[in-house]
Amino acid sequence: MVPTTDYYEVLGVPRDASTEDIKKAYRKLARKLHPDVNPDPETQERFKQVTSAYEVLADPKKREMYDLGGDPLGAGGGAGGGFGAGFSFSDIMDAFFGGTATRGPRSRVRRGQDAMVRLKIDLSEAVFGATKELQVDTAVVCTVCSGAGTAAGAQLATCDTCGGQGEVKQVQRSFMGQVMTTRPCPQCHGFGTVNPNPCVECGGDGRVRSRRTLTIKIPAGVDSGTRIQLAGHGEVGPGGGPAGDLYVEIAINPHPVFTRDGDDLHCKLQLPMTAAALGTSVELEALDGKETIEVRPGAQHGEKIKLAARGVPRLRGTGRGDLLVHLDVVTPTKLDSRQEELLRELAKIRGEEHVPGPSAAAPHGNVFSRIRDAFKDGLS
Ligand SMILES: [Zn+2]
Ligand SMILES: [Zn+2]
Repeated sequence: MVPTTDYYEVLGVPRDASTEDIKKAYRKLARKLHPDVNPDPETQERFKQVTSAYEVLADPKKREMYDLGGDPLGAGGGAGGGFGAGFSFSDIMDAFFGGTATRGPRSRVRRGQDAMVRLKIDLSEAVFGATKELQVDTAVVCTVCSGAGTAAGAQLATCDTCGGQGEVKQVQRSFMGQVMTTRPCPQCHGFGTVNPNPCVECGGDGRVRSRRTLTIKIPAGVDSGTRIQLAGHGEVGPGGGPAGDLYVEIAINPHPVFTRDGDDLHCKLQLPMTAAALGTSVELEALDGKETIEVRPGAQHGEKIKLAARGVPRLRGTGRGDLLVHLDVVTPTKLDSRQEELLRELAKIRGEEHVPGPSAAAPHGNVFSRIRDAFKDGLS
Protein backbone atom coordinates (compact mmCIF):
# COMPACT_ATOMS: atom_id res chain seq x y z
CA MET A 1 0.00 0.00 0.00
CA VAL A 2 1.27 3.43 -0.88
CA PRO A 3 1.03 5.92 1.95
CA THR A 4 -1.14 8.94 1.23
CA THR A 5 1.41 11.43 2.47
CA ASP A 6 4.62 12.03 0.57
CA TYR A 7 7.08 12.59 3.39
CA TYR A 8 9.78 13.80 1.02
CA GLU A 9 7.41 16.44 -0.27
CA VAL A 10 6.39 17.42 3.25
CA LEU A 11 10.02 18.14 4.13
CA GLY A 12 10.77 19.54 0.68
CA VAL A 13 13.75 17.25 0.07
CA PRO A 14 14.59 15.04 -2.92
CA ARG A 15 14.11 11.30 -2.63
CA ASP A 16 17.85 10.72 -2.46
CA ALA A 17 18.45 13.34 0.25
CA SER A 18 21.06 12.45 2.85
CA THR A 19 20.10 12.09 6.51
CA GLU A 20 21.98 15.29 7.18
CA ASP A 21 19.90 17.15 4.56
CA ILE A 22 16.73 15.73 6.05
CA LYS A 23 17.76 16.94 9.49
CA LYS A 24 18.57 20.34 8.09
CA ALA A 25 15.24 20.62 6.30
CA TYR A 26 13.36 19.55 9.39
CA ARG A 27 15.21 21.94 11.64
CA LYS A 28 14.38 24.81 9.32
CA LEU A 29 10.69 23.94 9.12
CA ALA A 30 10.42 23.19 12.83
CA ARG A 31 11.72 26.62 13.70
CA LYS A 32 9.12 28.22 11.47
CA LEU A 33 6.21 26.03 12.53
CA HIS A 34 7.09 25.65 16.20
CA PRO A 35 3.94 26.14 18.32
CA ASP A 36 5.74 28.79 20.37
CA VAL A 37 6.25 30.81 17.22
CA ASN A 38 3.00 30.08 15.47
CA PRO A 39 0.27 28.64 17.68
CA ASP A 40 -2.59 28.62 15.15
CA PRO A 41 -4.17 25.17 14.63
CA GLU A 42 -3.38 24.91 10.93
CA THR A 43 0.32 25.53 11.51
CA GLN A 44 0.36 23.04 14.37
CA GLU A 45 -1.21 20.42 12.12
CA ARG A 46 1.51 21.05 9.56
CA PHE A 47 4.10 20.87 12.29
CA LYS A 48 2.81 17.42 13.19
CA GLN A 49 3.05 16.29 9.58
CA VAL A 50 6.57 17.62 9.27
CA THR A 51 7.53 15.86 12.47
CA SER A 52 6.04 12.56 11.30
CA ALA A 53 7.93 12.88 8.03
CA TYR A 54 11.13 13.54 9.90
CA GLU A 55 10.57 10.65 12.27
CA VAL A 56 10.33 8.28 9.31
CA LEU A 57 12.97 9.67 7.00
CA ALA A 58 15.65 10.27 9.63
CA ASP A 59 15.52 6.62 10.69
CA PRO A 60 17.20 4.38 8.06
CA LYS A 61 14.97 1.38 8.86
CA LYS A 62 11.74 3.32 8.79
CA ARG A 63 12.85 5.14 5.68
CA GLU A 64 13.53 1.87 3.89
CA MET A 65 10.13 0.57 4.87
CA TYR A 66 8.53 3.76 3.64
CA ASP A 67 10.45 3.69 0.36
CA LEU A 68 9.14 0.17 -0.20
CA GLY A 69 5.59 1.44 0.03
CA GLY A 70 4.80 0.83 3.67
CA ASP A 71 4.11 3.40 6.31
CA PRO A 72 6.21 2.86 9.41
CA LEU A 73 3.83 5.01 11.44
CA GLY A 74 1.18 2.42 10.64
CA ALA A 75 -2.58 2.78 10.86
CA GLY A 76 -3.05 3.39 7.19
CA GLY A 77 -0.43 6.08 7.16
CA GLY A 78 -1.02 9.62 6.17
CA ALA A 79 -1.24 12.99 7.75
CA GLY A 80 -1.77 13.33 11.45
CA GLY A 81 -0.22 9.95 12.17
CA GLY A 82 0.94 11.47 15.38
CA PHE A 83 4.09 10.83 17.26
CA GLY A 84 5.31 7.34 17.76
CA ALA A 85 5.46 5.89 21.23
CA GLY A 86 8.43 7.19 23.10
CA PHE A 87 9.03 9.92 20.57
CA SER A 88 7.24 12.85 22.08
CA PHE A 89 7.16 16.36 20.85
CA SER A 90 9.41 17.49 23.68
CA ASP A 91 12.01 14.86 22.80
CA ILE A 92 12.29 16.24 19.32
CA MET A 93 12.47 19.77 20.57
CA ASP A 94 15.08 18.83 23.12
CA ALA A 95 17.19 17.17 20.50
CA PHE A 96 17.15 20.15 18.22
CA PHE A 97 16.75 23.24 20.26
CA GLY A 98 18.59 22.33 23.39
CA GLY A 99 17.62 24.69 26.15
CA THR A 100 15.02 26.62 24.21
CA ALA A 101 12.35 23.95 24.28
CA THR A 102 13.26 21.77 27.17
CA ARG A 103 10.57 20.53 29.46
CA GLY A 104 9.45 22.84 32.16
CA PRO A 105 8.18 26.38 32.26
CA ARG A 106 9.46 28.91 29.80
CA SER A 107 10.90 32.15 30.94
CA ARG A 108 8.80 35.28 31.07
CA VAL A 109 11.90 37.18 30.06
CA ARG A 110 12.62 37.06 26.36
CA ARG A 111 14.70 38.99 23.89
CA GLY A 112 12.80 41.76 22.16
CA GLN A 113 12.21 42.03 18.44
CA ASP A 114 14.30 43.94 15.97
CA ALA A 115 12.77 47.17 14.75
CA MET A 116 13.21 49.11 11.56
CA VAL A 117 12.81 52.77 10.72
CA ARG A 118 13.34 54.61 7.47
CA LEU A 119 15.46 57.73 7.32
CA LYS A 120 15.44 60.18 4.42
CA ILE A 121 18.66 62.01 3.78
CA ASP A 122 20.02 64.29 1.10
CA LEU A 123 22.53 63.18 -1.49
CA SER A 124 25.29 65.35 -0.02
CA GLU A 125 24.75 63.64 3.36
CA ALA A 126 25.15 60.27 1.65
CA VAL A 127 28.34 61.47 -0.03
CA PHE A 128 30.01 63.06 2.96
CA GLY A 129 28.34 61.22 5.84
CA ALA A 130 26.21 62.92 8.47
CA THR A 131 25.01 62.83 12.03
CA LYS A 132 21.23 62.78 12.26
CA GLU A 133 18.66 62.80 15.00
CA LEU A 134 16.02 60.15 14.72
CA GLN A 135 12.73 59.70 16.52
CA VAL A 136 11.99 56.08 17.30
CA ASP A 137 8.92 54.57 18.83
CA THR A 138 9.74 51.25 20.49
CA ALA A 139 9.02 49.20 23.60
CA VAL A 140 11.18 50.15 26.55
CA VAL A 141 11.45 48.69 30.04
CA CYS A 142 8.55 49.75 32.26
CA THR A 143 10.01 52.09 34.82
CA VAL A 144 7.26 51.42 37.38
CA CYS A 145 8.01 47.68 37.80
CA SER A 146 11.49 47.63 36.23
CA GLY A 147 10.31 44.93 33.84
CA ALA A 148 9.00 42.52 36.46
CA GLY A 149 5.38 43.07 35.40
CA THR A 150 4.04 42.86 38.95
CA ALA A 151 2.42 45.60 41.01
CA ALA A 152 4.44 47.11 43.85
CA GLY A 153 4.92 44.49 46.57
CA ALA A 154 3.13 41.77 44.55
CA GLN A 155 4.69 38.50 43.39
CA LEU A 156 4.12 35.94 40.67
CA ALA A 157 2.26 32.86 41.89
CA THR A 158 2.76 29.23 40.88
CA CYS A 159 0.16 28.12 38.32
CA ASP A 160 -2.42 25.73 39.78
CA THR A 161 -3.22 24.04 36.48
CA CYS A 162 0.27 22.78 35.67
CA GLY A 163 1.79 23.02 39.14
CA GLY A 164 4.51 25.26 37.79
CA GLN A 165 5.60 22.93 34.99
CA GLY A 166 4.39 25.23 32.26
CA GLU A 167 3.02 22.34 30.24
CA VAL A 168 0.31 19.77 30.51
CA LYS A 169 0.71 16.18 29.38
CA GLN A 170 -1.87 14.12 27.64
CA VAL A 171 -1.68 10.35 27.30
CA GLN A 172 -3.76 8.77 24.56
CA ARG A 173 -4.18 5.15 23.65
CA SER A 174 -3.85 4.36 19.98
CA PHE A 175 -2.99 1.48 17.65
CA MET A 176 0.62 1.86 18.52
CA GLY A 177 0.12 1.91 22.24
CA GLN A 178 0.48 4.94 24.43
CA VAL A 179 1.09 8.23 22.75
CA MET A 180 2.18 11.06 24.95
CA THR A 181 1.77 14.63 23.93
CA THR A 182 2.62 17.72 25.87
CA ARG A 183 1.37 21.19 25.21
CA PRO A 184 1.88 24.55 26.85
CA CYS A 185 -0.35 25.06 29.85
CA PRO A 186 -3.42 27.03 28.73
CA GLN A 187 -3.73 28.71 32.12
CA CYS A 188 -0.26 30.24 32.38
CA HIS A 189 0.69 30.07 28.67
CA GLY A 190 3.66 27.91 29.56
CA PHE A 191 5.23 30.24 32.09
CA GLY A 192 4.47 28.05 35.10
CA THR A 193 3.45 31.14 36.98
CA VAL A 194 0.52 33.51 36.91
CA ASN A 195 0.49 37.21 37.63
CA PRO A 196 -2.54 37.88 39.84
CA ASN A 197 -1.56 41.45 40.54
CA PRO A 198 -0.03 42.99 37.41
CA CYS A 199 1.68 46.33 37.22
CA VAL A 200 -0.90 48.95 36.21
CA GLU A 201 1.52 50.85 34.02
CA CYS A 202 2.45 47.99 31.65
CA GLY A 203 -0.37 45.51 32.35
CA GLY A 204 2.19 42.87 33.35
CA ASP A 205 4.22 42.92 30.14
CA GLY A 206 7.19 44.59 31.83
CA ARG A 207 7.55 47.10 29.01
CA VAL A 208 5.80 50.14 27.63
CA ARG A 209 5.95 51.98 24.33
CA SER A 210 7.96 55.12 24.30
CA ARG A 211 9.24 57.67 21.83
CA ARG A 212 12.83 58.69 22.11
CA THR A 213 15.40 60.54 20.08
CA LEU A 214 18.52 58.77 18.90
CA THR A 215 21.58 60.30 17.34
CA ILE A 216 22.85 58.25 14.46
CA LYS A 217 26.07 58.54 12.54
CA ILE A 218 25.64 57.88 8.84
CA PRO A 219 28.82 56.74 7.11
CA ALA A 220 29.82 58.33 3.80
CA GLY A 221 28.79 56.22 0.84
CA VAL A 222 25.42 54.88 1.97
CA ASP A 223 22.80 54.34 -0.70
CA SER A 224 19.03 54.01 -0.73
CA GLY A 225 18.29 50.66 0.89
CA THR A 226 21.44 50.59 3.02
CA ARG A 227 20.58 49.39 6.52
CA ILE A 228 22.48 50.62 9.52
CA GLN A 229 22.28 48.33 12.51
CA LEU A 230 22.05 49.83 15.98
CA ALA A 231 22.55 46.89 18.32
CA GLY A 232 20.26 46.87 21.33
CA HIS A 233 18.14 49.81 20.18
CA GLY A 234 15.16 47.72 19.04
CA GLU A 235 12.19 46.55 21.07
CA VAL A 236 12.77 45.57 24.67
CA GLY A 237 11.54 42.02 25.22
CA PRO A 238 8.68 40.83 27.43
CA GLY A 239 9.53 40.80 31.10
CA GLY A 240 12.19 43.42 30.51
CA GLY A 241 14.20 41.06 28.28
CA PRO A 242 17.16 42.35 26.30
CA ALA A 243 16.28 44.65 23.44
CA GLY A 244 16.47 43.59 19.80
CA ASP A 245 18.36 45.64 17.28
CA LEU A 246 17.22 48.71 15.44
CA TYR A 247 17.77 48.89 11.70
CA VAL A 248 17.78 52.26 10.04
CA GLU A 249 17.02 51.98 6.36
CA ILE A 250 18.35 54.85 4.31
CA ALA A 251 16.34 56.54 1.57
CA ILE A 252 18.03 59.30 -0.40
CA ASN A 253 16.02 62.30 -1.58
CA PRO A 254 16.31 62.97 -5.31
CA HIS A 255 18.80 65.74 -6.09
CA PRO A 256 17.80 68.47 -8.56
CA VAL A 257 21.07 68.18 -10.51
CA PHE A 258 22.82 64.89 -9.79
CA THR A 259 21.63 61.36 -10.24
CA ARG A 260 23.48 58.45 -8.73
CA ASP A 261 24.50 55.20 -10.36
CA GLY A 262 26.44 53.06 -7.93
CA ASP A 263 29.38 55.17 -6.83
CA ASP A 264 29.21 57.50 -9.82
CA LEU A 265 27.25 60.70 -10.10
CA HIS A 266 25.83 62.00 -13.36
CA CYS A 267 24.57 65.37 -14.48
CA LYS A 268 23.64 67.05 -17.72
CA LEU A 269 25.14 70.23 -19.10
CA GLN A 270 23.09 72.11 -21.66
CA LEU A 271 25.41 73.73 -24.15
CA PRO A 272 24.47 76.05 -27.04
CA MET A 273 25.58 74.71 -30.41
CA THR A 274 28.03 77.58 -30.79
CA ALA A 275 29.67 76.93 -27.43
CA ALA A 276 30.03 73.25 -28.31
CA ALA A 277 31.67 74.21 -31.61
CA LEU A 278 33.97 76.84 -30.17
CA GLY A 279 34.73 75.30 -26.80
CA THR A 280 34.09 76.97 -23.48
CA SER A 281 34.52 76.61 -19.77
CA VAL A 282 31.52 76.34 -17.46
CA GLU A 283 31.36 76.57 -13.71
CA LEU A 284 29.50 73.73 -12.01
CA GLU A 285 28.23 73.83 -8.44
CA ALA A 286 29.31 70.31 -7.53
CA LEU A 287 28.77 68.68 -4.13
CA ASP A 288 32.41 69.38 -3.28
CA GLY A 289 32.11 73.02 -4.30
CA LYS A 290 32.71 74.88 -7.55
CA GLU A 291 34.30 72.93 -10.40
CA THR A 292 35.34 74.32 -13.76
CA ILE A 293 34.27 72.16 -16.67
CA GLU A 294 36.44 72.60 -19.75
CA VAL A 295 34.53 71.89 -22.92
CA ARG A 296 36.84 71.29 -25.87
CA PRO A 297 36.12 72.99 -29.19
CA GLY A 298 34.07 70.66 -31.35
CA ALA A 299 32.48 68.85 -28.39
CA GLN A 300 29.67 66.54 -29.47
CA HIS A 301 26.22 66.03 -28.08
CA GLY A 302 26.19 63.08 -25.68
CA GLU A 303 29.88 63.37 -24.91
CA LYS A 304 30.82 62.78 -21.29
CA ILE A 305 33.32 64.79 -19.31
CA LYS A 306 34.69 62.92 -16.35
CA LEU A 307 35.64 64.55 -13.07
CA ALA A 308 37.58 61.76 -11.42
CA ALA A 309 36.91 61.01 -7.74
CA ARG A 310 34.10 63.58 -7.47
CA GLY A 311 31.45 60.89 -7.03
CA VAL A 312 30.32 58.95 -3.99
CA PRO A 313 32.85 57.40 -1.57
CA ARG A 314 32.90 53.63 -1.69
CA LEU A 315 31.19 52.31 1.43
CA ARG A 316 33.34 49.20 1.28
CA GLY A 317 36.76 49.93 -0.08
CA THR A 318 38.59 53.13 -0.69
CA GLY A 319 38.31 56.11 -2.96
CA ARG A 320 35.36 57.69 -4.65
CA GLY A 321 33.43 57.17 -7.83
CA ASP A 322 33.48 59.74 -10.61
CA LEU A 323 31.28 62.63 -11.60
CA LEU A 324 30.22 62.41 -15.26
CA VAL A 325 28.93 65.47 -17.04
CA HIS A 326 26.86 64.59 -20.11
CA LEU A 327 26.86 67.25 -22.80
CA ASP A 328 23.47 68.21 -24.15
CA VAL A 329 24.12 70.33 -27.24
CA VAL A 330 21.14 72.52 -28.00
CA THR A 331 20.33 73.56 -31.56
CA PRO A 332 19.03 77.14 -31.66
CA THR A 333 15.42 77.72 -32.57
CA LYS A 334 13.64 80.99 -33.40
CA LEU A 335 16.47 82.61 -35.30
CA ASP A 336 16.08 86.30 -36.07
CA SER A 337 16.98 87.45 -39.57
CA ARG A 338 20.53 88.48 -38.67
CA GLN A 339 21.26 85.15 -36.97
CA GLU A 340 19.79 83.22 -39.86
CA GLU A 341 21.92 85.21 -42.27
CA LEU A 342 25.08 84.41 -40.30
CA LEU A 343 24.26 80.71 -40.08
CA ARG A 344 23.52 80.55 -43.79
CA GLU A 345 26.82 82.19 -44.50
CA LEU A 346 28.62 79.76 -42.21
CA ALA A 347 26.90 76.84 -43.91
CA LYS A 348 27.91 78.18 -47.28
CA ILE A 349 31.57 78.60 -46.25
CA ARG A 350 31.58 75.08 -44.87
CA GLY A 351 29.84 73.68 -47.93
CA GLU A 352 27.01 72.42 -45.79
CA GLU A 353 24.02 74.02 -47.53
CA HIS A 354 23.01 70.63 -48.85
CA VAL A 355 23.57 67.55 -46.80
CA PRO A 356 24.49 64.75 -49.16
CA GLY A 357 21.95 61.96 -49.42
CA PRO A 358 22.59 58.23 -49.39
CA SER A 359 23.77 58.15 -52.99
CA ALA A 360 26.35 60.90 -52.62
CA ALA A 361 29.82 59.91 -51.57
CA ALA A 362 30.07 61.53 -48.18
CA PRO A 363 33.63 62.00 -46.95
CA HIS A 364 33.02 60.25 -43.62
CA GLY A 365 30.70 57.52 -44.75
CA ASN A 366 26.95 57.64 -44.97
CA VAL A 367 25.37 60.34 -42.84
CA PHE A 368 22.63 57.90 -41.96
CA SER A 369 23.56 55.06 -39.73
CA ARG A 370 21.86 52.58 -37.54
CA ILE A 371 20.38 54.07 -34.43
CA ARG A 372 22.56 52.08 -32.07
CA ASP A 373 25.64 53.88 -33.39
CA ALA A 374 24.11 57.24 -32.74
CA PHE A 375 23.34 56.24 -29.16
CA LYS A 376 26.53 54.35 -28.54
CA ASP A 377 28.20 57.23 -26.75
CA GLY A 378 25.05 58.90 -25.59
CA LEU A 379 23.37 58.92 -22.24
CA SER A 380 23.51 55.51 -20.71
ZN1 LIG B 1 5.25 47.70 34.72
ZN1 LIG C 1 0.23 26.53 34.12
